[in-house]
Amino acid sequence: MPKSPPRDNHHPAQHELDAARDRIRDLEASQEASSQILEELHLHHEELRTQNEELRAAQEALREASQRYQDLFDFAPVAFFVLDHQGSIIEVNRTATDMLGIPRSGLLRQPLRRHLATVSRETFDRLLAVARQQTVQTDVELTLNTPNDPDLHVQASLTLDRRKREVCFRLAMLDLTGRHQAEEHRRLAATVFEESNEGIMITDAKVRIQRVNRAFTVVTGYQESEALGNSPGMLSSGRHDAAFYEAMWDRLQQKGHWMGEIWNRRKNGEIYPEWLKINAVTDSEDVVQHYVGIFSDIGDHRQTGQDVERFAFYDALTDLPNRTLLQERLKHGLMRSKRDGRVLALLYMDLDNFKTINDTMGHQAGDLLLQEAAARLQQVVRPSDTVARLGGDEFTVLLSDLADEATATATASRVANTILQALERPFQLHDNEVVSGCSIGIAMFPRDGSTCSEIAKHADIAMYQAKHKGGHSYTFFAPEMNRELERRVRLEERLRHALQRDELSLVFQPVVDVHRQCVVGVEALLRWDDASDGPISPKEFIPVMENLGLGHKLAQWVLERACETLSEWSFPGAEDLWVAVNFSPRQLQGLTSREVQETLKRTGLDASRLVLEATEEHFHSHAEHIINTLHAVRELGAKVALDDFGSGHSSLGRLRHLPIDIIKLDRSFVLGLPDESRDLAIVNTVITMARQLDLRFLAEGVESHAQLGMLRSHGCELVQGFVYTRPRSGDDCAAWCAGFREQPWAPAPSPHSTTHGEPN
Ligand code: C2E
Ligand code: MG
Ligand code: MG
Repeated sequence: MPKSPPRDNHHPAQHELDAARDRIRDLEASQEASSQILEELHLHHEELRTQNEELRAAQEALREASQRYQDLFDFAPVAFFVLDHQGSIIEVNRTATDMLGIPRSGLLRQPLRRHLATVSRETFDRLLAVARQQTVQTDVELTLNTPNDPDLHVQASLTLDRRKREVCFRLAMLDLTGRHQAEEHRRLAATVFEESNEGIMITDAKVRIQRVNRAFTVVTGYQESEALGNSPGMLSSGRHDAAFYEAMWDRLQQKGHWMGEIWNRRKNGEIYPEWLKINAVTDSEDVVQHYVGIFSDIGDHRQTGQDVERFAFYDALTDLPNRTLLQERLKHGLMRSKRDGRVLALLYMDLDNFKTINDTMGHQAGDLLLQEAAARLQQVVRPSDTVARLGGDEFTVLLSDLADEATATATASRVANTILQALERPFQLHDNEVVSGCSIGIAMFPRDGSTCSEIAKHADIAMYQAKHKGGHSYTFFAPEMNRELERRVRLEERLRHALQRDELSLVFQPVVDVHRQCVVGVEALLRWDDASDGPISPKEFIPVMENLGLGHKLAQWVLERACETLSEWSFPGAEDLWVAVNFSPRQLQGLTSREVQETLKRTGLDASRLVLEATEEHFHSHAEHIINTLHAVRELGAKVALDDFGSGHSSLGRLRHLPIDIIKLDRSFVLGLPDESRDLAIVNTVITMARQLDLRFLAEGVESHAQLGMLRSHGCELVQGFVYTRPRSGDDCAAWCAGFREQPWAPAPSPHSTTHGEPN
């Protein structure tokens, strides 16, 4: 150990000692400093670690937030787009790609405009222009054209984003389909509520009326304003006791609904029964929010019951008893007559030209006619007699409780005569007057049958007879009429197949120009030879075929055959002859000018060689279709003849407006010539009128030379009739016409001479 020098005399050892002590002190001090530094270092380290952890946590939070925002962005219920200043897509969210049905990669850098429906593109351009000027959000409705829906409605909001260095837009789109559907739902519910036939009343939980519908007002008589805020007790009739209402509320509270019959009182004091259903409407916590009462007036239901009965037993058009009720009454009448030894008469009637009026003037006019006829029938019978409508234009009158057969015959005749008179008076249908008339058949109990069906059948047969005689008359049933009915049934049966079996044929009757003395045309007339009954008049069998629904087919067949025959005729001058074809009103109603044109084309006949024959019946007003067809046919080059002129009811004044070229005067006016001065006057008038209207005049049914001479001398131009020849088969008629040209007709020296060319 070094000696430490003494202090006072600076001993070297002391000096070293002091120095050593100083060094120790220094060392101690630096040791302290370094441990302090160490401590500080440690502290820093701790701090850094903490900071590091915080940073990591912050980073994690940021990442999470970013993910959350991305999710929010992607799955927001709004389609979101960021667009550049030109409207091209920079960014989209998932909803947007889903809405457009195109992946993100397919949308980026594409103009959004491309995905809009054409109608919306201009709106979108305007929207961009407006958004460029101002930062406020602009809303519009746009239609998108997406692969899944070319008509997707969206609500679009566009905002300018100024924070970015470059101009860009934020565009949000909301699919309106749901909203539109909800609106639709609401509208529908509101309509159902308002339009329901049942009264509806909605109250709040305290049972104060909040809403009522229209039917509520109709049934109760209270307006909505009078009902709102009131309790449904305002309707109470006083008929139910407190226990009734208590039971109702008990059930409502336990089960949530109540249903039953209840008597209520209308505003006018009237008490009425209603069928009421009440439902409690609760919220998600099962707390009642509303009560909904739905009710219907069952007094009305009882009325409906009566309506059903009316419907079952009365005819809706005329309000007369229908077939069912007639049968009931007939049955009842028969029973009473049997019991009391009385007689009963049943009259069947059918309007004479109802079908024609209905076909040509339309169903509305037909309905009016039936209603008026029904009213007239009711006026002429006793209240105790039953007038019924069987359907169509068939009516019946049941006269019961008649003393004996003689009384029954006299009464039935008297009633039949009154009915005939009543129905012969003209009917005013809209602006037109038409004449109908009827045919009546009468059968009696016990003479003509003992059961309802027998009597009805026999009255029907008698009616058919009356009709067959020409209408406007009545006929009593006679046993031999049964044979007639059988014949009718047979006729129908055979006619059903006559066309297919090729049993029909055409004959032709020439028309002669008496001035130029040449044949100018022929009329085609239909023939049918029934295997058992021989030749049957077309006047009889054509209506039967029409009733079988074969009228149109028949018309086509006649037209085709007539045109075909004429185009096949090849003798000199044959090419100048026309052929006239008859059409009933119903047939013309079903014909089109196109069918005519096609037939002419098929058969090679020139249109100028075809004449369509219609009668005055065809031209009742409202026969627009017929008139249009005839105009169209004339435009093709064909002609129209007015057949049987004078036998109908049309006025001469109307002729001027009809699409016709030829007037064929009815045979009945020729019949009285040359002696009947009135017929002659009519012939003269019509000839003059035809000339003035620039129509050709044809007299039909001319049988004698005397008639012919008279007609010629009064300026009649065209003649058709047995005086020249009866209708002939195609070949026969061709030969006759060819021969006629060679030997012009000369007036016969005596009225008894044979007619030209007639074989007989
Ligand atoms: P309509 O069109 O007036 O035809 C003239 C009728 O008078 C024919 O009777 C004809 O044979 C007959 N007749 C011709 N000249 C004389 C004469 O000098 N004296 C007499 N007493 N009669 C004469 P038809 O052939 O029995 O035809 C009767 C009616 O049947 C026709 O009257 C026409 O309305 C209708 N009809 C004939 N064929 C057809 C057809 O193909 N379709 C349609 N819808 N009706 C036809
Ligand atoms: Mg004719
Ligand atoms: Mg005629």
